Amino acid sequence: MFTKILIANRGEIACRIIKTVRQMGITTVAVYSDADRSALHVKMADEAVYIGAAPSNESYLVVNRIIQAATETGAQAVHPGYGFLSENADFCRQCAMHNITFIGPPVDAILAMGSKSAAKTIMANADVPLVPGYHGDDQSSAFLKSEAEKIGYPVLLKAAAGGGGKGMRAVHCAEEFEQALIAAKREALSSFNDDLMLVEKYLLKPRHVEIQVFCDSHQNAVYLFERDCSVQRRHQKVIEEAPAPGMTLELRQKMGAAAIKAARAINYEGAGTVEFLLDSRGDFFFMEMNTRLQVEHPVTEMISGQDLVTWQLIVAAGQSLPCSQEQLKINGHAFEARIYAEDPDNDFLPATGRLSLLQPPPEDSYIRVDTGVVQGDEVSIYYDPMIAKLIVWGTTRAKALTRLTEALSKYRIAGVTTNIGFLYNLATSQAFRDGDVDTGFIQHHHDEIFRQRQQDLNYAAPLAASAFLNLRQDNAAKIAQQSNEPNSPWHLNNNWGRPMSVIRMEIQQNECVLSAESHADLSNSTIVSKNNGFDLFTPEGFFHCRQLYPDLGVNNDDVDRDNLKAPMHGTLIALMVATGATVKKGDTLVIMEAMKMEHTVVAPSDGVVTEFYFQTGSLVEADAELLSFEALDL
Ligand code: ADP
Repeated sequence: MFTKILIANRGEIACRIIKTVRQMGITTVAVYSDADRSALHVKMADEAVYIGAAPSNESYLVVNRIIQAATETGAQAVHPGYGFLSENADFCRQCAMHNITFIGPPVDAILAMGSKSAAKTIMANADVPLVPGYHGDDQSSAFLKSEAEKIGYPVLLKAAAGGGGKGMRAVHCAEEFEQALIAAKREALSSFNDDLMLVEKYLLKPRHVEIQVFCDSHQNAVYLFERDCSVQRRHQKVIEEAPAPGMTLELRQKMGAAAIKAARAINYEGAGTVEFLLDSRGDFFFMEMNTRLQVEHPVTEMISGQDLVTWQLIVAAGQSLPCSQEQLKINGHAFEARIYAEDPDNDFLPATGRLSLLQPPPEDSYIRVDTGVVQGDEVSIYYDPMIAKLIVWGTTRAKALTRLTEALSKYRIAGVTTNIGFLYNLATSQAFRDGDVDTGFIQHHHDEIFRQRQQDLNYAAPLAASAFLNLRQDNAAKIAQQSNEPNSPWHLNNNWGRPMSVIRMEIQQNECVLSAESHADLSNSTIVSKNNGFDLFTPEGFFHCRQLYPDLGVNNDDVDRDNLKAPMHGTLIALMVATGATVKKGDTLVIMEAMKMEHTVVAPSDGVVTEFYFQTGSLVEADAELLSFEALDL
């Protein structure tokens, strides 16, 4: 076994790998960029090497810097985590050339699965069922469109080099095809420097069910069951679970066998995931194989009792798999919820900021929180906005789900907009409780998921009112105490007019964090006051309350004007109309790109664009006014 391993990653996955590597008695080496000088993964590792500037293409993606760090520190192996260089064939080759073990599959397996279209050809030859579609080299728009017509709409355009849902567009009819192809190619080129596209039948209401496989260098191969990752936004996973609801033993064995066939077809070694789409008839189709540890691997660990990072190290060291297929058993049910800095109410746009409050639920043998940040850290524009993964286990799905919702209600984060309230609403919805999931779940149940908050305001409203009163009274009392009026009620010291007492108060920069106890039911809540309102963390979940009354500070935000602002820090990539153009409500005015995703800014009403304040290619700050717009009186 190795004695020193370098972890070529950051954030939660670097921390999670360090934990296991340390438990195995192996020395750990972290790498870090300027933005991560005091990051948790750096503090946790035995040694740390600086590798460059904050943008990942100047640090975490620079092959030579990582190889140099491993050589200088005498690390015998490199664990790439997920993302960054984990599926980079050149990095894998360079490791071999420098006598460093790459903890992952052989380079040929990475190459074989690196392109979704090449992978489909290999899988077709190995008799693994595929989604019907075109995955060849002819890329002319007319040809791809004729293929789409052959397949039949709706179709899905996908970047062959794709990942992270980027370069992907659903097309519902022939009229939409050209525009969608241009947009998908543009996104693919900027994300992957490669705009090769494939066209697939867009399956309606499929489930995303993936199989965890493991192979060693002695021809042994097993599958560690399935994960259901159907609940997605922007084609990206939000909540994953294992086992998949409603899975039968027969279907599991069939999918497991197909996944092992896929892995064997490319002489796989190490941890891999074979992703399938599963339709309502129980037919399943190969989508792609990820040749690395997945974000959602903890749910498999929870139900199998195995540590997948330990398995990776064992295989990389040339030893045999720790278990046979017969020895592996499913125990109970697990969920993972991804806690993101993002705004569910604004199309899940990534958010940035400082984590002024970060209180995860307490961990125990049923609740695990994998994270790479601590209170006070910054969620920056440079990296993935995932704050943590909340993983829970229960003997049954229902018990695990109760644990998930309880843990979500205890999760308190302020300073950055998060999806916690959204996850809570999703996890408590009837359809999710029923396990009735498919990849369109969030869209189909949008009203149910988003409406629930209104009902729960019954709980939040008195707390918000109390918080307002407390702050106002504190201010008013200070003024009154300075006056000479002896009968002022403000001099009374009996909590007069206070339905809640503050038990802890902390001022952090321009925010005020109050831990409060309501006199009505004595439940604990945390309130973070901001300039324009409050974040309330109650036992019933999270609420954001805006101040509504002028004397409490009016929120003057004009909703329409907000729509004409840059939704986040990014690049303006296209002005879609000319200055002076008359446009209809909903017309696309500007396309921006941020974090490799495109965002469109649309006309808030019928009107005229009188001026654009930025040119194509400009870097624009979040919230910058993009254009001047005059609404037309109808
Ligand atoms: P990426 O590698 O960018 O994450 P995937 O190929 O893994 O892309 O697909 C991501 C998600 O997109 C899937 O989990 C599924 O929800 C959806 N998807 C992909 N292909 C299809 C398809 N042919 N029909 C319907 N949905 C699809």
